[in-house]
Amino acid sequence: MRVWAIANQKGGVGKTTTTVALAGLLADAGKRVVVVDLDPHGSMTSYFGHDPDALEHSCFDLFLHQGGVPQGLPGELLLPTSHERISLLPSSTALATLERQSPGQNGLGLVVAKSLTQLWEDFDFALIDSPPLLGVLMVNALAASQQLAIPVQTEFLAVKGLERMVSTLAMINRSRKQALPYSIVPTLFDRRTQASLSTLRFLRDTYPEHLWQAYIPVDTRLRDASRAGVTPSQFDANSRGVIAYRALLKHMLALVPAIQVA
Ligand code: ADP
Ligand code: MG
Repeated sequence: MRVWAIANQKGGVGKTTTTVALAGLLADAGKRVVVVDLDPHGSMTSYFGHDPDALEHSCFDLFLHQGGVPQGLPGELLLPTSHERISLLPSSTALATLERQSPGQNGLGLVVAKSLTQLWEDFDFALIDSPPLLGVLMVNALAASQQLAIPVQTEFLAVKGLERMVSTLAMINRSRKQALPYSIVPTLFDRRTQASLSTLRFLRDTYPEHLWQAYIPVDTRLRDASRAGVTPSQFDANSRGVIAYRALLKHMLALVPAIQVA
C-alpha cells in the first residue's frame, strides 16, 4: 500500500479537493483507495455525503485504546463513497479534542500508521486529508505517509503558511528514519491575476527542488463536483482541473518508486 498525506497548515488551499481528485483518478484506474479524513472539520466526510456531526464512529475511535488499535477496527469504520473503489475512514467532531493535544507526549503518534497496516491487503493506496494544526493528528498523518503533497494557493498570503508547513516537516523528519519526500502543489491558479503569477514565480525561485512544475487552475467544475458529492473525474473527466490533477498524479507516482512488498 502506498500512503500519501495531503497537508498544509492553512485552510482553503485545496487539500480536500486534491485528496478527492487524486483518489478518484486512482480509483478510475482500477486501484482500491482508502481516503482518511483527519480534519476535525470533516470536509471530506461531508463531501461524500456523511455528516461528521452525526457520526457515532470515526477515526477518533482508533485513538481510544491504550493497548493498541484493536484487530479489525479500522475496517469496521469504513464508509462507502460515490466511487465503488473508494472507501472513507471518516472524521467526526470528536476528533477536535485530539487536534490540540501536543504531539509526542502521549505515544499516540503512530495510531494511524498502525491502523493502515491492518488495511494493507484491502487497498492499494491510502490518501490522508490532514488537519490545519500541528498536533497529534498532523503528526499521525505525516508519520503514516511515504510521500506528501502540500497544496499552496497562489495568492500573496499563502506563502507564510507554506513556510510554517516546511518547518513542521523538518521537525517531523528528525524523528523519522528517512526524510518524507514532498511536492509543493500550486492551486487555485488564475493566470489573469498578478497575485497568481507572482506567487508562482516566488515558489519557483524559493523551492526549486520541491515545486511541482505545473499548477492546478481555478476550475468551477471542481466546486460543482464537491456540491454533487462525486469525485471531480466522475463529474467531468475532461475539465481543466481534472486534466491538471491527472498530471499531478503522474508526478506523484513517479516521485517515489512503488514500495516492493515481498
Ligand atoms: P482545504 O481542504 O485546504 O480547506 P478545499 O479543497 O476544501 O480546501 O478548497 C476550498 C474551496 O475552494 C472549496 O470550496 C473548493 O471546492 C474550492 N476549490 C478548491 N480547489 C479549486 C480549484 N482549483 N478551482 C476552483 N475551486 C476550487
Ligand atoms: Mg479540507
